[in-house]
Amino acid sequence: MTARILIVDDVPANARLLEAKLSAEYYQVASARDGFEALAAARNWQPDLILLDVMMPGMDGFECCRKLKEDPATLHIPVVMVTALGEAAERVAGLDAGADDFLSKPVEYATLMSRVRSLVRLKRLLDEWRARGETVRALGLAADRLPPPSVAGSRVMVVDDWDAEAEAIRAALGQDGIVVLRARDRAEAMALSAAMPLDLILLSLGLAEEDPLALASGLRAADVTHDVPLLLVGDVGERERLHRGFDLGANDWLLLPIDPQELRVRARNQIRRKLYQDRLRADLGEAIELAVIDPLTGLYNRRYLMRHLRSMMDQDPPPHLSLMLIDVDFFKAVNDAHGHAAGDRALRVVAETLRSNIRAFDTLARYGGEEFVVIMPGAGQEQAGMAAERLREAVASMPTPLVDPAGDGALSLTVSIGVAVSGLDADSADGLLAAADAALYAAKRSGRNRVELARESWPVAPIA
Ligand SMILES: [Mg+2]
Repeated sequence: MTARILIVDDVPANARLLEAKLSAEYYQVASARDGFEALAAARNWQPDLILLDVMMPGMDGFECCRKLKEDPATLHIPVVMVTALGEAAERVAGLDAGADDFLSKPVEYATLMSRVRSLVRLKRLLDEWRARGETVRALGLAADRLPPPSVAGSRVMVVDDWDAEAEAIRAALGQDGIVVLRARDRAEAMALSAAMPLDLILLSLGLAEEDPLALASGLRAADVTHDVPLLLVGDVGERERLHRGFDLGANDWLLLPIDPQELRVRARNQIRRKLYQDRLRADLGEAIELAVIDPLTGLYNRRYLMRHLRSMMDQDPPPHLSLMLIDVDFFKAVNDAHGHAAGDRALRVVAETLRSNIRAFDTLARYGGEEFVVIMPGAGQEQAGMAAERLREAVASMPTPLVDPAGDGALSLTVSIGVAVSGLDADSADGLLAAADAALYAAKRSGRNRVELARESWPVAPIA
């Protein structure tokens, strides 16, 4: 995922090292040498994440963080404090200053990348949440008055057979009003997660009677816990297993002995992400829904899409995003051969297939007729191309009898998709749609059931 990261460090060599590592992962990186430069860069460049050194002359990291969190132009940007190893006092001070996360020096590569990925994802959800509220307000509708979700009252399951550790976790998270439920083994974990919705799972790698990694992958596979963030708890000697757990889908990890401050930060970030994700997927209020939702498919309608896309593209600096224009192939033939009721059913199934194959912060809308649009914040050409290919494949392999569930009218549908990328193909909402449309034409002309990128379809003139 493309993202802008601002590195703040008074020692140029430190900044360069982080810069090299992050650039290698295709992040856009800028650096600032002190707190004053950092404040200016944060305001003007609008990074998605700030890595902030604590020890700096003039203005230290705490003061800089406090100023960032006071300024309405920068308060939504996640800040990671880079502290000296094991300085619990610095963490507390950082929390007080409003920091979102911590990294210890020297910065370890795998840890850096997992924190960055996790926070950039949280930022995207937050941005989308804010943007949808703006769009609804701009449409003159009752605004989304819901306050940002609070972690108080959320449910965390701790899978740990060690009483003292489980108790320490319960005490730490209890301070934030989080309800902690305990499971001692796989059977209890499965029973508990089936019994009630969870917002976070903490899994100890020290389980004596279980293979914790097998349990981690089991939780990832189960329907009820598939989307629940998973935090692993292990000691330094288990670093290899922590990393493997990460490959299996864990979202973050925590090293023993548990630092209550660090636990609270990690838990809070994961829970907030989950809550935003749930809200973005949840329904809007009824009155708003009527005005912005397409009644047939339940997706956003064209009116909402255009307003949303325009307000996103009007941001300064313009955001990174990709747009897909998706058209159902030979749809007229479905209506002609099977009637409009069958056509409507087919559109609903296609819509649902698209919906279940995009990210929570992507926007999916019915653009008109049998056309759909997906906006993918943060996605560059390659990522958007791959996502489009995944959607094309998902629709082509839909197993559902689309026409008449009772009869013999099983029907397979395909879609053609045009992809356009902001900055690369166009700089405005209308330009992006036009570029995606040209790419869609190219996909149709070269046989349908295809994905075409706008950039590559330029030589093909649209059919007049
Ligand atoms: Mg320093």
